[in-house]
Amino acid sequence: MSFDSLGLSKPLLDAVAAQGYDTPSPIQAKAIPVILEGKDIMAAAQTGTGKTAGFTLPLLELLSKGPKVRANQVRALVLTPTRELAAQVGESVSTYGKNMDLSSTVVFGGVKINPQMQKLRRGADVLVATPGRLLDLYQQNAFRFQQLEVIIFDEADRMLDMGFIHDIRKILALLPKQRQTLMFSATFSEEIRTLAKSLVKDPVEVSVTPPNATAKTVKQWIVPVDKSKKSGLLTQLIKDNDWQQVLVFSRTKHGANRLAKHLEQRKISAAAIHGNKSQGARTRALAEFKSGDVRVLVATDIAARGLDIDQLPQVVNFDLPNVAEDYVHRIGRTGRAGSTGQAVSLVCADEVGDLIGIERLTGQLLERKEVAGFEPSTQLPVTRDTRPLKAKKPKKPKSPRSEHKDGQRSSENARGNKPVGKNRRHTGGGTNKTSRRFSKPKAANSGNK
Ligand code: AMP
Repeated sequence: MSFDSLGLSKPLLDAVAAQGYDTPSPIQAKAIPVILEGKDIMAAAQTGTGKTAGFTLPLLELLSKGPKVRANQVRALVLTPTRELAAQVGESVSTYGKNMDLSSTVVFGGVKINPQMQKLRRGADVLVATPGRLLDLYQQNAFRFQQLEVIIFDEADRMLDMGFIHDIRKILALLPKQRQTLMFSATFSEEIRTLAKSLVKDPVEVSVTPPNATAKTVKQWIVPVDKSKKSGLLTQLIKDNDWQQVLVFSRTKHGANRLAKHLEQRKISAAAIHGNKSQGARTRALAEFKSGDVRVLVATDIAARGLDIDQLPQVVNFDLPNVAEDYVHRIGRTGRAGSTGQAVSLVCADEVGDLIGIERLTGQLLERKEVAGFEPSTQLPVTRDTRPLKAKKPKKPKSPRSEHKDGQRSSENARGNKPVGKNRRHTGGGTNKTSRRFSKPKAANSGNK
């Protein structure tokens, strides 16, 4: 199949060709025609398989056929859970829309609001936003939704979980009833699927891999180790394997800072990225990591979702996430767009419950490899169970908006270690299926509109 057969017009086909894509990825092949027909969609696809173009291309096609955007109006809204992902999606919109007469704007918190208000005065065909800042701007009359045609939830399961659902309900109440709703995510737990279905009209459900599967292109294993030895083990792994670009996930902000400092002291350049850092520091840390100036980026789960770091070879879970779906998102930062990657998790005996959750969600037992000199004094119990967990009835959301403003997660609250929906259960399962390769893109060439 080629892009020509999907119903996209020449300006978009040229932009796609300029990116070096010759074949639509499976999610693109399935989702693009459905969206062009004006239908609602719930799409589940592994991370790194071209979801962004899967919704951006047909969105731009639809918008190019409609009326011009008026001042202070927005025709399409893309919601993302983090600022970094909003910026990245905004770049994709500019890249794919570079040959079209459509405008796009990105807004998120942590930066000045006035320039965002000024931009919105002119109206935006596409507004990419994190929910907190979007509501602030709306309350300050920066824009209106009378012209809204399409709303897109990127990382939909995160957008609908307890951390964001209050804001999302507020936003949905402001939108015209007559609209198209698109939901895209790599993972959908049963309860979120039920909630999502209540927000869409007769959706077409599209899925290209077993739900919650991890990519075959990512080699995964765990190293059993005592908690107190994790920093030393990570340092040794980086040095022995000469890993040059490593994304390390830490459960807490404090832990991320401590670990970055520990690595720096051992002459391994490192930066931390989490919700307590200023937006300037977050943007800088990510840019330096992408360019190779910083060897290790230690992140909380704000970096787990959607971030596309070209050819990132190595992900390390310094702590296991306690929401199993986050494991799938974290390791999905590597092995993207057909390239290969490795994901290693450092697991102490306390974390066996989280390990079981992950193994049952992904339907596979993770290989264990001890490292000489770091054998645990408390053995990690053997795990055997890969049966899918049963779904629980959805719980009523509780958490207030303030904690999640600007794309932060409730797992990043002051105590730092309370997960979102700890009581969430999953019906995951299914073993890995081969992820289909699709050709590598050329370097992104984003033109700002
Ligand atoms: P995403 O899942 O949207 O984050 O995309 C993952 C990566 O795949 C990005 O680097 C895209 O530039 C790239 N990509 C998207 N669509 C295609 C395609 N059809 N062929 C090759 N690469 C693509």
